[in-house]
Amino acid sequence: MIAAPRLSLSDGSTIPQLGVGTYKVPAEVTAGLVEGALAAGYRHVDTAALYGNEREVGEGLRASGLERDDVFVTTKVWNDDHGFDETLRAFDASAAKLGLDRVDLYLIHWPIPSADRYVDTWRALQRLQQDGRATSIGVSNFSIPLLERLRDETGVLPTVNQVELHPRFPQNALVDWDAANGVVTESWAPLARGGLLQEPLLAHIAERYGKTPAQVVVRWHLDRGLVVFPKSVSLERIRENGDVFDFTLDTEDHALIATLETGERTGRDPDLD
Ligand code: NDP
Repeated sequence: MIAAPRLSLSDGSTIPQLGVGTYKVPAEVTAGLVEGALAAGYRHVDTAALYGNEREVGEGLRASGLERDDVFVTTKVWNDDHGFDETLRAFDASAAKLGLDRVDLYLIHWPIPSADRYVDTWRALQRLQQDGRATSIGVSNFSIPLLERLRDETGVLPTVNQVELHPRFPQNALVDWDAANGVVTESWAPLARGGLLQEPLLAHIAERYGKTPAQVVVRWHLDRGLVVFPKSVSLERIRENGDVFDFTLDTEDHALIATLETGERTGRDPDLD
């Protein structure tokens, strides 16, 4: 049974360190995968309005039979809903699709600096938190200057910053800044969308632990204190990705994995939007 530890957030809440991602999980298989992941012991699901599967995530949650407070659900406001009123409406739509009165974590999906509406959007998230609709609030794809602006203009830093992060693109400076400022970093594309898993070095390390390359990479995130939610359309691989709580990588392995850094992203650079 997968039993992930929980990390503390700056607002006093906690978050399971491991979850399941749902980007590009087709709606027709989402409910079954979410139900299966929860049956395997996962307690955290990451979705977004953009993904088009919030309704089916909600179905999977209900099918699991778990109590609401036993599952941590994240969703996100999409780029064309930035702005105070727009964000409140977008939240209502997401909550209705999920079939939830409140979500555990609501994120600004991308900052879109060129539109310059992310501060108003952040104020809407603060309202949602005050109203008890979002237990915790955070952002995604924010660089340090944008985080500093949120703090300077609203007095409140996000509890989490969800960014692209994997051994090829480890985001060391941002992870350090987040940690120093009480922001939990979440890794999206933690497996570099699967591209990383063919690296011979990972196969070599995995063999020594009797694990798979994917498990070694998930463990790398956990060891670094990051929140991680790999995505798979296969329940077998979802279980595999969660079977990571019986080992840790040693310092030498971390040094070896650090050599995989290339600076390559799988997604776009959020500062350029
Ligand atoms: P991941 O790095 O999680 O990689 C997913 C890919 O890896 C899929 O092709 C999957 O294939 C494959 N895979 C998964 N597990 C295994 C395994 N054990 N062995 C071999 N292959 C495997 O990429 P994502 O982009 O999905 O990122 C994870 C989550 O992060 C998303 O689902 C989403 O929730 C979030 N995200 C957030 C973004 C943001 O802007 N905030 C942007 C992108 C993602 P298969 O499905 O066929 O098993």
